Amino acid sequence: RLASERYRYSVEAGMPQGEVWRYMQARYPALFSLVVFFGILAGLLAHWLQKRSSAPTHELQRALGANEFIPYFQPVVRGDTRQWAGCEVLMRWRHPKEGLVRPDLFIPLAEDSGLIVPMTRALLRQTAAQLAPHAARFSPGFHIGVNITARHCQDMALVQDCQEFLAAFPPGQVTLVLELTERELIEPTETTRRLFEALHQLGVMIAIDDFGTGHSSLGYLRNFNVDYLKIDQSFVAMIGADALSRHILDSIIELSVKLDLGIVAEGVETAQQCEYLVAQGVDFLQGYLFGRPLPCDEFIKSLGIVE
Ligand code: C2E
Ligand code: CA
Ligand code: CA
Repeated sequence: RLASERYRYSVEAGMPQGEVWRYMQARYPALFSLVVFFGILAGLLAHWLQKRSSAPTHELQRALGANEFIPYFQPVVRGDTRQWAGCEVLMRWRHPKEGLVRPDLFIPLAEDSGLIVPMTRALLRQTAAQLAPHAARFSPGFHIGVNITARHCQDMALVQDCQEFLAAFPPGQVTLVLELTERELIEPTETTRRLFEALHQLGVMIAIDDFGTGHSSLGYLRNFNVDYLKIDQSFVAMIGADALSRHILDSIIELSVKLDLGIVAEGVETAQQCEYLVAQGVDFLQGYLFGRPLPCDEFIKSLGIVE
């Protein structure tokens, strides 16, 4: 609508409401259908892409806020006496609909999205809150192993997380062990050097998890001042089955003795495996033979029975 400033008239042009589409449809039917078709297609595609990329991450974020990630505890026993020397903290997702979800189903996603760092932080806090009231019943220096991803080692925040964890216990009552998987090696930089130095000063120990499945060098083990090697369960499973794997297992044990590293064998399920490992001088054992991962109350109850 255009009104004249000098004369008392105005010009109006246009189409009645809804007429534009009908006009387009009548004059350019092919173009019109094409525009509508591609419009709808682009809309659907954008919606699908957005949903696909953000839905699982949103779900993890929601679960983190709702405290659905909880610690389970699996005992680690001394090879010589079979006494409980510590435990490994294993994350579980207590999903409101799906029930208890195993970590291999959601940890990779948490790692990709970076949510693994706040999730681990929350797990450390829950672990401290749940175990601290029972700390007096642990043998002194009780080892608490926590799985840490390489991403968490990129800055110094991990030092504070560990400090906070240790502050929940009487001094010297527990030893925190960070388990770093060998499949995901950390780049040695100035920051990581400072980080690992600060961690060792706190008394935090470092274990290389799933040892034998990755490719860490001797230099690597020395660089990060590693304290323990955790032999991957695939090697333990082959005890008594295959001479080559046993040879690898024996070499790992020999290596750890030479480097003066503690050694933990994972996935010990049979008495035969246990006897073999003890005869080879393995310091610590972990597996279903001694106990499955349990929620805190059951873990503490079993602790009483064993000792
Ligand atoms: P992992 O660190 O190698 O943990 C040991 C896995 O072996 C656990 O599986 C444990 O339940 C299982 N296991 C223990 N004893 C036996 C046995 O005698 N036989 C067999 N067949 N399996 C045994 P889980 O709890 O399902 O955890 C799987 C993996 O998920 C862990 O492997 C670890 O890599 C990862 N994970 C668990 N919790 C966390 C966490 O808090 N943070 C991170 N970053 N990763 C985690
Ligand atoms: Ca582990
Ligand atoms: Ca492992």
